[in-house]
Amino acid sequence: MLGLMQDQPLLISNLIEFAERHHGDVEIVSRRVEGDIHRYTWRDVAMRARKVANALDAMKLAQSDRVATLAWNGYRHLELYYGVSGSGRVLHTLNPRLHPEQVIWIANHAEDQVLCFDMTFLPIVQAIHAKCPTIKQYVALCDADKLPADTGIPGLISYESWIAPQPSTYAWPSFDENTASSMCYTSGTTGNPKAALYSHRSSILHAYAACLPDVMCLSARDSVLPVVPMFHVNAWGLPYAAAMVGCKLVFPGAGMDGKSVYEMMENEKVTFAAGVPTVWQMLLGHLKPNNLKFSTLTRTVIGGSACPPAMINSFRDDYGVDVLHAWGMTEMSPLGTLCTLKNKHLTMSPEEQMKIRLKQGRAIFGVDMKIVGEDGNELPWDGKAYGDLLVKGPWIVADYFKTEGGHPLVKDAAGEAWFPTGDVATIDADGYMQITDRSKDVIKSGGEWISSIDIENIAVAHPAVAMAACIGVFHPKWDERPIVVVVKKPGAEVSRDELIQFYDGKTAKWQIPDDVVFVDAIPLGATGKMLKTRLREQLKDYKLPSL
Ligand code: AMP
Repeated sequence: MLGLMQDQPLLISNLIEFAERHHGDVEIVSRRVEGDIHRYTWRDVAMRARKVANALDAMKLAQSDRVATLAWNGYRHLELYYGVSGSGRVLHTLNPRLHPEQVIWIANHAEDQVLCFDMTFLPIVQAIHAKCPTIKQYVALCDADKLPADTGIPGLISYESWIAPQPSTYAWPSFDENTASSMCYTSGTTGNPKAALYSHRSSILHAYAACLPDVMCLSARDSVLPVVPMFHVNAWGLPYAAAMVGCKLVFPGAGMDGKSVYEMMENEKVTFAAGVPTVWQMLLGHLKPNNLKFSTLTRTVIGGSACPPAMINSFRDDYGVDVLHAWGMTEMSPLGTLCTLKNKHLTMSPEEQMKIRLKQGRAIFGVDMKIVGEDGNELPWDGKAYGDLLVKGPWIVADYFKTEGGHPLVKDAAGEAWFPTGDVATIDADGYMQITDRSKDVIKSGGEWISSIDIENIAVAHPAVAMAACIGVFHPKWDERPIVVVVKKPGAEVSRDELIQFYDGKTAKWQIPDDVVFVDAIPLGATGKMLKTRLREQLKDYKLPSL
């Protein structure tokens, strides 16, 4: 017997219709590429998203055709989120930090038909357009009078002239909720990038989950600043979740430096922000020397790579801000786990609580996870056993777009299909997962594993250290030994021996790095994560001093 409930597909257009009707007056504030601040409301987003949908219809763009963006976080990008997906096309957020050759490869693989870009990225578009045969329309995300006369890009039109003649009414189509809505290519440090192809259903379920109290706890009382780019897994779903609950959205545009982000936070009374650790490093680096405090920020989600304890402490002790440590992946839309305490932890000392807060957290309902050993058998949840982390759930990929060379899922003995995350983790008896490492970054020394994350966390707790990356280097006896590559804070001093001594008592003796290499900068990937593959290449001639 079927239930007697209304059968309505979960569609992204529902979100924008709801936002317009129920909290149409809530503000969206953006710093524009032009430099000024733009303000309007969810009602305006809805109206202009309908114009976008009409513009795509006018081009006779087929359902499921890809509309790509090369854009910062801003209001026009938000309109594309809704206009493109709502009308049944697929929004493809290209990462402008990739090398132009990679952008060409990805745009061709996705068979993008339209490319909308911020003027900051005009040089990229000029470099790639001749090699992207599927793109038939280029749209510059700017006012009509800001479009330069001779860009060399055929048929280039400004976004405002593109949507101006279009009606602001539009009947959003209804279709199967499993229809593709958006896509994002993994940052893929090896091999060609692979695309996660999200559906309307997966995006809406993920948005519901994101708002839960033990997840991001978003509400109509929040003013939210996604520092995480809209081209990095849909800004972790915030553009959708915000429309669901009716919070204010604040977009920093191209101004991702500490000073610009701080100004936006204060001016727009931001209560909640989200970003990768390297971004927060810049923000804290601006606050400390200038003796600044937050007047409204209460919590921030930090994920994408391991959040060092020193950062969690500094946010809490110096600024009264709660860090929510989160873990996820492009393939997971991206939210997998978030770290919040349980009732029984509330009476613990701050030190004991910190041990928990450091972990990547508990699975969100909708995500199931397990760790397995080399034989594929599940390992115990004792906080000690570590193994490959597998996940499954309705917002996790079943396959990649136009996948070549096999499918990602693995079957367990019970026939259940799981996505192997490539991460190595422990899970404790309370269900808190902790990432030990990316499986390819883990250091294997004398048959034992050393977590590079643990070694980095200790280094960045030293007051003179701004950033640290731990990598394994060849050792004839132990196979690999850890070294730590360090960027010092401006004007700060620490010697190799002082830093090695700093590890004393903080980790097992055999896990202490054999050497410290000081560098000016650690290479960062397109989403702000440390690129250890490149670091290893840079240090390929490095030899341990003891050899
Ligand atoms: P991406 O799909 O590019 O966002 O990368 C996903 C990968 O980032 C995960 O598989 C992890 O290796 C890493 N990652 C994400 N969040 C965290 C976190 N909180 N701690 C440690 N690693 C993380």
